[in-house]
Formats: sequence, structure tokens, C-alpha cells
Amino acid sequence: MQYTSTRNTGLHIPAHQAVLQGLSREGGLFVPEEFPGPISPSDILHDSYQQLAVRILSGFLSDYTEDEIRQCVSAAYDSKFDTDAIVPTRTLKDGTLLELFHGPTSAFKDVALTLLPHLLSCAYEKDGLSDTISILTATSGDTGKAALSGFADVPHTAITVFYPEIGVSFIQKKQMQTARGNNVSVIAVQGNFDDCQRMVKEAVSDPEVLKACHHVRISSANSINIGRLLPQVVYYFSAYRDLVNSQKIHCGDEISFIVPTGNFGDILAGYYAKKIGLPIRHLICASNTNHVLTDFLNTGVYSTDRPFVPTMSPSMDILISSNLERLLFMASGNDPELVSKLMDDLKQTGRFAVPEEMMQKIRETFIGYWADETSCSSEIHRLYEQEQVTIDPHTAVAMHALHEYQKTGASEACVVLSTASPFKFSASVLDALSGPSDLKDFAAMNQLSRVTGLKIPAGLAELEQLPIRFSRTIAKADGLNAIKERMEELSHD
Ligand SMILES: *Cc1c(COP(=O)(O)O)cnc(C)c1O
Repeated sequence: MQYTSTRNTGLHIPAHQAVLQGLSREGGLFVPEEFPGPISPSDILHDSYQQLAVRILSGFLSDYTEDEIRQCVSAAYDSKFDTDAIVPTRTLKDGTLLELFHGPTSAFKDVALTLLPHLLSCAYEKDGLSDTISILTATSGDTGKAALSGFADVPHTAITVFYPEIGVSFIQKKQMQTARGNNVSVIAVQGNFDDCQRMVKEAVSDPEVLKACHHVRISSANSINIGRLLPQVVYYFSAYRDLVNSQKIHCGDEISFIVPTGNFGDILAGYYAKKIGLPIRHLICASNTNHVLTDFLNTGVYSTDRPFVPTMSPSMDILISSNLERLLFMASGNDPELVSKLMDDLKQTGRFAVPEEMMQKIRETFIGYWADETSCSSEIHRLYEQEQVTIDPHTAVAMHALHEYQKTGASEACVVLSTASPFKFSASVLDALSGPSDLKDFAAMNQLSRVTGLKIPAGLAELEQLPIRFSRTIAKADGLNAIKERMEELSHD
């Protein structure tokens, strides 16, 4: 099975090269040329998470041997996760929570970023490379730490993370500033996530940056890398398996997923799951106050002409959702000219408009809702009062969307993706639970633990003691220069 680019279908490369490269040279994203044969839900009911991962990834990564995939999977999904289920489900009155935050950094990004470094190393060996793979990563908060943790001291790799100076939570910032490993670097940018993401995308084709690279290859750990996306397909199946095994649905029934969305990676993985046979009725795209995607799904016009608003769900504070490009490619019937034009419109004018037939196709599966800050807080409060379940603000945005969706009369089983531990956003969660308080930072984290009786995850509890290793801040105009310097530092003969 080959991969091509959303902006150049003349390109055909095997999966491992797409993983190595991250982003296509002309700026497009790598996508599978066709989808692997369907997986029948009845075949997976006895699979462990690891077996399921091998089954699904083998279809997409056909140039890796099954043995290679098995090794990558068992290196990723082990005791780094605090539960054998890896991604357990929890029953609520109105639906099911899929808990994706049991990995080392307490956000769903761990599911993909514990695996990606192994997929990359394996690709590296296949091609007998001697280059250093330089991973450039833009983060709205959670990807950064998950990538730093996944790549720390992985041979032949170096990782550089850019995060917005203002916008990430206190805990997220501490997690990054204290990252371990000799191959890691972390830089704060005076800008927002979109600025960070743009820097990383531009670096890939910037002549000055490329000139600085000697035996260094640039790749990405953002969900623009297909190797980030594919591991996320697995948990949609695992949630379905859990619902069948606990007799909440019959095998073959359609269900819907509610996905708190920023860069559109997680929800796109759900669409890939549907493409390979998972019975999904709707994928509900849940946004916060930066609801560019809700508006797009409703109107067919994607417009970034709006203020960027920092919210209590910072990992969704994004106006340019990169993975939407992959959906547009599919909805256009794989039309690279159309996709290039839309992306060019976005770059030149800050907006694009999608033809109505394409929107109809997209709306067969995708529906968008958004939650303001008040609704987000009240979801956190309500769920705790009514069911003693504590959720983080991103999950709360999705819970709000679930209720909006159910108001339309939808009656199928619904799964809400719970993407982060509430302790990553302790101060906001505490405020929502017990009213405004002056407690901040570590004091808020400790108080949240006292109020809820929940244990602070180990990776967060240790932060208070760890030394700050990275405190550099740059202006966004200096981004490419900083990347160039880093490439010079990593260059070798
Ligand atoms: C990254 C993130 C999201 C958004 O996921 P995308 O793949 O960017 O759409 C939602 N919630 C949390 C906690 C995240 O870290």
C-alpha cells in the first residue's frame, strides 16, 4: 500500500518513507492511496489492545513486517500506561467515556507518541540511514510533552518543541520546561499555536534552513505526520469492542463518537476507522470558543477572520486545523488541484469555500457543536455532582456537544473521547467544581486531589521537584532563524 500527497497525486511512496518525512515537499500531507481491506468488528472482540493495534496498523503500514509492528507496539503500550487496558472505557448515564489519558504525560497524545518513535526508528533502519532525524514540533500544550517524552534519548533522533508563551496551562509549561533527555530542546514563542505550526511547516522547505542541514533530516511529530494519525485509529475499534463485550450494543450496531477537536487529527482517525469498517454513524466535532470548525461544517466556509481566544481548553485553541486538508482530499474524490487551491486561498485570504456537493458528503458523517466557557465549566460541575466523575475542560467541551447532539433525537450509543487528565488543568477544574478560588498551580493540583479523592498521576506529581531546563523565549519572526541554528548544531559529517 502506497501513500500520496494531498497536493500531488503523482507521488507514490511507501508508508515508512511517509513516516520519516512527515510532510510532503510541496506542503501537502501524506495520505493512503487506498484504504486497507475492512476489519469486521466481530473479529476483534477477543483482541487485547496490543493485538488490535497490530491488526489495524499492519493494514496501513504494509511495508513494515508484522513482526516489526508487533515489536513497536509492545515497546509502546507497556507499563508506561497506568492500566493494562491502555484506553479504558467508563459508563456514564448518557454515554460512554473513552479515557485516553492513562499514558506517561496524561493526555491522549501519548497513545500515538509512545509509538511514533519506534515506527520512525524502524523506518530509519529499513533505509540504512546515517542522518540525524530532527523532529520539529509545534504544540498547543499536550503534543509537546508527549513528543518530548516519546523521543527522549531515542537513537538517531533529536527533538525541538515550540510552544506559545501565553496560552498553555501552568502544568503543561512545567512539563515541557523540565523535559529530560540529551536530544531535546524546548523554545517558547511570543505568538499562538498557529504561529508555531506555521514556523514548523515553513522550515521544511526554507532554503536557509535546508542549507544548514548536513546529515540532518527534518520530520514532524505533529498530527501532520501520518505515523501520528494511524495509532489513533485503534482506540475507536477498542471502544467499540468494549461496548459489545459489555452488552451495551450488538455487534454491527452503529455508534457515534464525540471528539474534542483542535487540529482535526483525532477525529480524522475516527473517519479512517469508519473507512476500514467500523460502524460509525456520526463523528461529532466538538470545539471551544475558537469554533472555526463548527462554522465550517455549518456553512461550508472556513474563515480564520476572527479573534484567537485563549480558553481553559488550550489544546483546542487553534484556528488552522491542519488535518482538515486530509478530509477535503477524500471528500473531493482525491483532487489535488482543488485541495491546493483551497489551501492557497487560506494562506492568501484567510478563508476558503468548499463546493456544496463536497459539504454534503462531509455532513453525512460530521456534525459540529461548540461550547463557551460557561457551558464547559457547568459540564465539569454537573458530571461531578451527578455521577462523581471528574473530567478535564477538553472532555467537558465534548460532553456539552454530546448533549446538544442528543437533543436532536439521536438515540444510538455515543462514546465521548476523554482526552486529558483533569489534573493537567487543575485550577480550571477546581474553579468549576467548587467556585472561584485563589489557588493556582501546584496548590490547585493538590487541592483537586483532596476534593475529588483522586490520585495525582505520577508524571504530574513529580513536576514540582524537577529543575527547569529550558526557559528560552523567542519572537515569532525569529522562528526560522532559531530552527536554522538548531539544524547547524545537529549537523555532522
Ligand atoms: C490535542 C488535544 C485535543 C485536540 O486533538 P486534535 O487531534 O488536535 O484535534 C483535544 N484535547 C486534548 C487534551 C488535546 O491534547
